Amino acid sequence: MKMISYGRQSITEEDISAVTNVLKSDYLTQGPKVSEFENAICAQTGAKYCVAVANGTAALHIAVAVLNIDKGFEGITTSITFVASANCMRYNGLVPRFADINDKTYNIDPSSISERINDKTRLLIPVHFAGQPADMVTISELAQQKGLYVIEDAAHAIGSQYADGSYVGNCKYSDMTTFSFHPVKTITTGEGGAITTNSKELYGKLLLLRNHGITKDENILTSNPGPWYYEMHELGFNYRMAEMQAALGISQLSRLSEFKKRRREIVSFYNAAFAAIQWLATPWEAQDISSCFHLYVVKINFEEIKRSRKQVMEYLFSKNVGTQVHYIPVTSFPYYQKFKVDACPQADRYYEQCLSIPLFPAMTDAEMMHVVEAINSLAL
Ligand SMILES: *Cc1c(COP(=O)(O)O)cnc(C)c1O
Repeated sequence: MKMISYGRQSITEEDISAVTNVLKSDYLTQGPKVSEFENAICAQTGAKYCVAVANGTAALHIAVAVLNIDKGFEGITTSITFVASANCMRYNGLVPRFADINDKTYNIDPSSISERINDKTRLLIPVHFAGQPADMVTISELAQQKGLYVIEDAAHAIGSQYADGSYVGNCKYSDMTTFSFHPVKTITTGEGGAITTNSKELYGKLLLLRNHGITKDENILTSNPGPWYYEMHELGFNYRMAEMQAALGISQLSRLSEFKKRRREIVSFYNAAFAAIQWLATPWEAQDISSCFHLYVVKINFEEIKRSRKQVMEYLFSKNVGTQVHYIPVTSFPYYQKFKVDACPQADRYYEQCLSIPLFPAMTDAEMMHVVEAINSLAL
């Protein structure tokens, strides 16, 4: 059996011809495919507006930027996330604070958010960890009470549904939602990202920042002497997505429900196979939530099986089962140690035990069973 990685893309002949068709067309960038992809994301999520960008980190960067929060104010995110969820605040001069996690969902804990809120707090960035939406009802209520902005980092969660059945990205609980289309994520454009919002004003600002702060929009121009003319209104970036990427995204998005079905099938299979193992905890899905599982994270009691995580990873690797740790607490990194970081005991405890095992739609039944056998053999 060949190496089974913890996650990987699924590319079909249709995906490939979508990309090669663009290569034969007139536009490789700034053509029709990007807005077609944006419209498809609006249709999938239910949001009014979408801006596709170069990657998920760029999406977070400009989502924070368009809120125009003065430097020195604070934002709160989770310690168990990829560093980009916090870095986007630093790009904009904000001070990140880290809240602890809920020990069942591994998502940011609203009561820990409350403890971190003070006069300087302006922004909350919950992350829908492993695909399961954070407790957005409580978080949005908290934000409303305290007058805070909310950006959902949904890099893991395209296709996931909140408890009310609506889709992540519809922004009913937030100002903006960001996505990533890196190859390990649920759908891919190679590199890519997007922001959804229901605010026309934020949408306009996002469009400006994606493209150097430059506009040709007659409603914004201060004068319009001729067809060559444009104006720069903000200090923006080149965060555009290319046409080939957008074409791949459209093709991938059309397979999202198929991806979700297969991901959930594998999760059910694993859950049943591991249910009786005392030294391993399977993921917990909250009532009425429908997660488009991005990761399958198990918690292993390494003391009980008398093997360290390093030994377990090496052993599984020798059986061609790839694993990964999601995530090293952001608070532990030397860069963030320079800031006042609050203790996150649940996050630290989770980090001691977590391990992501293979989950991706192209996994075969034989691969799935092989992973289960390899895990079972850990305690033999
Ligand atoms: C992947 C990821 C990002 C960044 O996305 P890129 O497209 O890799 O820049 C941000 N937040 C989380 C939680 C992620 O997993």
